[in-house]
Amino acid sequence: MQIYLDNAATTKMSKAAIQSMLPYMDEIYGNPSSLHSAGQKANEALNGARQRIANLLGCEAREITFTSGGSEADNQAIISAARLGEKKGKKHIISTAFEHHAVLHTLKRLEKEGFEITLLDVHENGIVLPEQVAEAIRPDTCLVTVMYANNEIGTIQPIKKIGEICREKGVIFHTDAVQAAGHLHIDVKEQNIDMLSLSAHKFHGPKGIGVLYVKKGIPLTTLIEGGAQERGKRAGTENIPAIMGMTAAFEEACKHIDENTKKLSALRNMLISGLSEIPHSILNGDAENRLPGNVNFCFEGIEGESLLLLLDDEGICASSGSACTSGSLDPSHVLLAIGRVHDIAHGSLRLSLSEENTQEEIEYTINAVKEVVAYLRSISPIWRDLVNGKKEFIIK
Ligand SMILES: *Cc1c(COP(=O)(O)O)cnc(C)c1O
Repeated sequence: MQIYLDNAATTKMSKAAIQSMLPYMDEIYGNPSSLHSAGQKANEALNGARQRIANLLGCEAREITFTSGGSEADNQAIISAARLGEKKGKKHIISTAFEHHAVLHTLKRLEKEGFEITLLDVHENGIVLPEQVAEAIRPDTCLVTVMYANNEIGTIQPIKKIGEICREKGVIFHTDAVQAAGHLHIDVKEQNIDMLSLSAHKFHGPKGIGVLYVKKGIPLTTLIEGGAQERGKRAGTENIPAIMGMTAAFEEACKHIDENTKKLSALRNMLISGLSEIPHSILNGDAENRLPGNVNFCFEGIEGESLLLLLDDEGICASSGSACTSGSLDPSHVLLAIGRVHDIAHGSLRLSLSEENTQEEIEYTINAVKEVVAYLRSISPIWRDLVNGKKEFIIK
């Protein structure tokens, strides 16, 4: 038995996505840049997919660039806005302290080049306020980049309002919507978004493919030089099978957003109330304003890695935060950003659900987590000190 509760790290591909890829690995394998009919068939599929993605985002096909995933889309969006700003002498960028590393590390690189980066506080509930963005914008601000939903604690940011503020002040607004796409409503026009990143493998599409939406009129900087694919902004033969799989998965996910939200949030709330019964535990991130499938807890007196390994023995695939930081001993920058101290941040658990999870799986998981936490505490010297009153509990 395996209970997969790590859908924020990646998802299983949907049957529709797999089916839609097969013809493009078999009969229709031409290079879309080739002039012969085999190439033109692939090119038609590519154009069709671009239009279908545009329809789902509420934009035009020419505003869609296919990338190798969310990381590349984030890099290209930020670098492009920075290069544009630089030309006008604007070298200030605003973001938040709990962005994905694809954003934060790109900003670090720009900082080394002389850009000034303001990272906004996200408060204990994991939500940045639009007023903070308004206050932080300066005459030399060239970009605001704030994620739509956080990948560790699932909190949803007021991006429409932030976009509105940026538009009023003439600053480009980018949002990393990798966790939101296919799970939350997106309409780039209505939400005042200038640039948006998404990645197929977070909504039951294939890995290694994503989208960068860029509002027309904003020139992109090329990260990969070569052929003239993607209007010369992203060289390399297009990954047609992956693009077709992503498009099918995105259409399917968007079509079922309402029913999936209903189902997932019911399971999520059940999981949250079950795990809240564990003494000295705390939910990370706002209880309501979070992704329908995200649960993230800290348990005092234990270590997240041991919790994960023992849950794996029980058949449960979970995460202590982001897959990208696991393997390092540093606590999650997201949990530190919402004010969890090191000791507490180390004892974290992220459970991220998909539509395939069942109520039985959630009940089993609640019991398993309760048992494993109790066991780890029973052998933890820190827990003994806490219980004996030698140390004070941080989570009451
Ligand atoms: C997964 C993720 C990314 C990276 O996407 P890849 O397609 O894996 O490169 C970026 N941002 C967020 C919020 C993510 O969850």
